[in-house]
This record gives sequence, structure tokens and C-alpha cells, in this order.
Amino acid sequence: MKFNNSKILYNKALNFIAGGVSSNFRLYEPAEVPLFFEKALGSYMWDVDGNRYIDYVMGLGPNLFGHGPNFIKEAVNKGMSKGFIYSGQHELEISVAEQALKFIPMQDSTVRFASSGTEIVQLAIRLIRSYTGKHKFIKFEGHYHGWADNVCFSVNPKLDSSGSNMTQIAVPDSSGIDINISENILICQWNDIENINYLFKKYKGEIGGVIMEPIMGNTNVIMPLPGYLNKVKELCIRESAILCYDEIITGFRVAAGGAQEMLNIIPDLATYAKSIAGGFPLAMLVGKREIMNNIGNGNVVHGGSFNSNLMSISAAHAVLQRIKQKGPEFYNKLNGLGLHLMNGLRDVAKKSKINLKVNGPGSFFSIYFSDKKNILNWRDHKRNVNDIKYQTFAKAMLLENIRLSSIGRTHICSTHTEEDIEITIQAAHKVLKNF
Ligand code: PMP
Repeated sequence: MKFNNSKILYNKALNFIAGGVSSNFRLYEPAEVPLFFEKALGSYMWDVDGNRYIDYVMGLGPNLFGHGPNFIKEAVNKGMSKGFIYSGQHELEISVAEQALKFIPMQDSTVRFASSGTEIVQLAIRLIRSYTGKHKFIKFEGHYHGWADNVCFSVNPKLDSSGSNMTQIAVPDSSGIDINISENILICQWNDIENINYLFKKYKGEIGGVIMEPIMGNTNVIMPLPGYLNKVKELCIRESAILCYDEIITGFRVAAGGAQEMLNIIPDLATYAKSIAGGFPLAMLVGKREIMNNIGNGNVVHGGSFNSNLMSISAAHAVLQRIKQKGPEFYNKLNGLGLHLMNGLRDVAKKSKINLKVNGPGSFFSIYFSDKKNILNWRDHKRNVNDIKYQTFAKAMLLENIRLSSIGRTHICSTHTEEDIEITIQAAHKVLKNF
């Protein structure tokens, strides 16, 4: 397989775009160079060398209905025929909020819109501090909440410089981060109730909230252990701290009501982005009315020129209407396709005696290499998962025209077909036979 045109464009891009890419996460693609694409439609992508891939990156999650679905294009075209950005209100944003709140189990809630996941998490954290008057918050190792200073800590720290299992050090993931911020970020191991208990005891009365990916999408797609979220919620209630789910991956992907519907533990705040607008930039904070009033009354500043622009809101409106129309069958199918692929990969790994494992709810899941049966949190991942082996696998799969993400998170979209899944399993079989 040739990547010559991607190489030419990448070298040209290096002259004009820092690192030749527009997000650092695109630096680490499984291909020899960051690939350049010509078009994407449904479950397929075509690169500039004419290679066609079955895509499981799906924009890292947003393309719930595949690339460029017509119903979203039509809705966006219709919306933008009336203008792009008003810096004023329009009726469709109420419809989107109303429908989203019908899906999301949190009772008596309101929303605010923004454009990106990173941005909306910032609003959540500011709101936590404003509402509780407490400045420290708990963040879990290996959970990602965007690239802003106050959360870009301990997503992927080195084991030997990140402290003990009980007292983790907040390690910045980037240079240039204001290190003084770390004083208020308490890093915790996920799925470890003793660790969070310890932190609440140690910092009694100082912790305003807990932010987490309720399904740990950015490391291994790890599910919470039975009873864990319940205990965290009880702790938050007891300590008057706000529980915030970052549902930027899980929202509208694992169920219409996201992880809170699937896991049936309801937080006080939740952030959404990615799937809500099927590929258009839209983020949303949902929170209990009483907490959200702190934004509504002007105490917490929240702005954004692009907030509730017509294109993104029209896309979200179309997405939510489609989810409503399809009913639970939509998620049954999505999860079913994912489970088919997960089972197929498990089978071919077993046949080839390779320690490839899969984990997750179906509509998204991780592919990883480990001898350990269950990976529980980031430390467990770091100690027991061979990331280099995954990189080699993803690269070999790319040469079989299957596009996997650089971190193993695999996204199913509604236009993936059973045939796509079978082709992917056969490709994995071929790759693993020679592994
Ligand atoms: N939270 C989570 C859980 C995410 O996965 C991401 C993005 N991968 C973000 C926040 C940040 O979202 P964005 O890339 O839209 O800024």
C-alpha cells in the first residue's frame, strides 16, 4: 500500500502548520505519516493515495451515523439558509435542549451549549467551584477532559513519577501548563473506592467536586466496577461535593441517555459533545436547575461567539430526532454490531494464540494486548497492557484497509454493516496469524 501523496502533502504541511497537523493526537497515527484524506462517506474513508478504509476512528466518536449522513447535511443546509450565527436566540436551540433533557435521566435540569468538549468541561469546573465555594476537585488518572490547563494532568503520566497507589502526584501532560494549578487537582485511581475515601478524608471540606468519565473511554474503555459509582455518589452527597460525569464520549453513544442511563447512577452535572451533533461542533453542559442557575444569574461567566450557531444546532436537532424516531432499536443495533466485532476479534485472537483483548459496551470498545483478564484503571493498564503491540497491530490493520485509532478506542457507527464487521474480523485474523 502506498502513502506517497500523503507524504508529499505532509511535507508541504510542515512548512505552514506546526507539526503538519491540527491536533497533537493526529501525530501518532498508525500509518508511516499522518494521513491526508480526500473524502469520507458512511463507514468509509479515502486517503489522497486512493486507499479506501473501513473507518473505526469515526472522528474519535462524533460520527455516530457515519461520515456525512444525508439527513444531517439536509438539516444543516436548511438551518444555514437562515444565517449562521445570530449572537441571539432562536427557537431550534430550545427544541434541542428540550429533547436532550427528555433523553437524559437527570431530573429538573437545564443546559448550556458551547462548541467543544474542552470548553464545556471548563464551564463545569467553574460552576462546581462557584456553587460549592470549594476549589479542589478530584480527577482520575488516565481520564481525559480536554487539553485546558486545569485538567491536562495525569492522563498519561509515567508510572515512576506519578506517586504511590494511594497518593498520586498531579503530573502535567504538556509543557507550558501553569504548575500552580496542580494544588487544586487531586488525582485519584479509578475503580478504587479506598483511594477516593482517603482523599475526601485528607482534604475534608475542601473538595468541590469529582469529575470522571463514567466509562473510562480514554484508557482501555473500562467499565466501572459494580457498586463503585454508587459509592462515589454517596461520598459526594455526604461531603457536599458535586458529581460530574464527562459524557463527551458516552453521551448519545451508549444509550440515548448516555452512561447515566446505562449505569443508572445519576450525577449532578454532565458534559456532552461528540455524538450529539453527529460530526458538527457542539458541546452541552447539563445540570440540576439549582446548580445551573449560577450560570443563568450571571455569577458564572460563560460566553462563546459560536455557541448555539445554526449549523451545529440544526445538526443536533436532526440527530436527536433521528434517535427518537429509531427508538431503543438504534442502540440495540449499534451495540450488537460492536459486540459482533468484539466477539470476532476474540475468536481470531484465540485461534492465533495472541493475547488481544477487547473491552467496552459495544457501540465503542477498546482493543488491547494483555495477559491480565480485567484491567481496572490506568495503573493497571500501564503495568499490564502492551501499547507497542497495539500500535503494531493497528499499523498492520491499516495495510489491510482497516482504520483503527492510535489508542485502541474503536467506534461503531450506524452505517457500519455486518459485511464491514466480517471483513474487519478476517483482516485481524490475517494480521494475527503472522504476529
Ligand atoms: N472529555 C472526553 C472524555 C474526551 O474524550 C474528549 C475528547 N476526546 C474531551 C473531553 C475533549 O473534547 P474536545 O476534543 O471536543 O475538546
